[in-house]
Amino acid sequence: MWRMKAARINKTKEPLKVEDIATPKPSGEQVLVKVDSAGVCHSDLHLWEGGYAGPQGVFMKVEDRGVKFPLTPGHEVAGSIVEMGDKVTGYSKGEKVLVYPWIGDGVCPACKAGEENLCDSPRSLGVYQDGGYGEYALVPSYKYLVKLGDYDTAAAASLACSGLTAFTAVKKAAVKDGETLVIIGAGGLGLMAVQIAKAITGAKIAVVDIDDKKLDEAKKLGADIAVNSGKGDPVQGVKDATKGLGAEAVIDFVNNAKTAPNSFNMLRKRGKLVMVGLFGGSMELNLPLIPLRAFTLTGAYTGKYSDLVELVELAKKGKIQSVVSRRFKLDEVNAALEELKSGKIIGRAVINP
Ligand code: NAD
Repeated sequence: MWRMKAARINKTKEPLKVEDIATPKPSGEQVLVKVDSAGVCHSDLHLWEGGYAGPQGVFMKVEDRGVKFPLTPGHEVAGSIVEMGDKVTGYSKGEKVLVYPWIGDGVCPACKAGEENLCDSPRSLGVYQDGGYGEYALVPSYKYLVKLGDYDTAAAASLACSGLTAFTAVKKAAVKDGETLVIIGAGGLGLMAVQIAKAITGAKIAVVDIDDKKLDEAKKLGADIAVNSGKGDPVQGVKDATKGLGAEAVIDFVNNAKTAPNSFNMLRKRGKLVMVGLFGGSMELNLPLIPLRAFTLTGAYTGKYSDLVELVELAKKGKIQSVVSRRFKLDEVNAALEELKSGKIIGRAVINP
């Protein structure tokens, strides 16, 4: 039996260990992918830290949400097929693929509607079962693969989460030509959202972050307005840019106790707030304002397989381009997570095992 190296979380908050483990053998519909690139998502940091800040200082542990350790994280996985079970059709060895990691049970109402990302009993790769921080990843079915052709695996990897989540959020924001869409947080997800919003809407795009370098990158990618909320009031900044009315939609990729009240307060009448970030905490809601201003508050969690296929096509046509600013080897995984935590990564880092 082959052996492989994988970086694993054995215990939350402790450094990941690169271990020598058995390489899984695919059977039936399963596919073994040799990992070329695994994106480092801020959600991997939350997983490593063991959970999310909930209301009133309560910590929401990932273990209470069904996560079990030891675990190989990594849900943004691109590579090539090395082995397949006997029921796999339409794929061949050596083919480059992107993995759709948001795997469900296939039987709940969400799965039946094609939204496995919202399954009642999720089995997502890199969260509930081993993912891509390793030399190989076992994919439960060829149906979760997307063909990449010649498209670069490092650029493709982050489409599986950061790209897909941003795509879902922009679609949910549903802004029309000339309307204003505010993107809070110009990180891995936010920078994707700027490009996707440019590609599929005719909206004016305002971006809010606390880091000028990330705002500069957002401007390069097409953002019309950049506001540093560390230096000025972002609500005022958005009001100034919208004749005092506010934005038709806000996507909050941070979504913590600081950003969420601002996001709420910069909405125009009939505005929509799409909450995506898991930075955590809580906020007090001014309840009468929700009906009086007819606001819509909604959440977005990753995205569906059919949207990933659509997104890969957009990327292949050059309409969006992942910002990959750092590459790490597998044994540098802890440095990758630390750099992301300290806010040093522009766009995405990838691990090349
Ligand atoms: P990231 O670390 O790449 O980017 C975060 C960005 O937010 C950075 O640019 C940072 O400067 C900015 N920021 C931090 N605090 C801020 C503040 N107070 N005001 C304005 N900007 C601020 O993270 P990411 O990978 O883009 O992920 C963002 C969040 O989304 C994480 O919590 C992640 O877990 C979550 N996430 C959610 C989903 C989902 O489906 N809902 C999917 C993936 C990631």
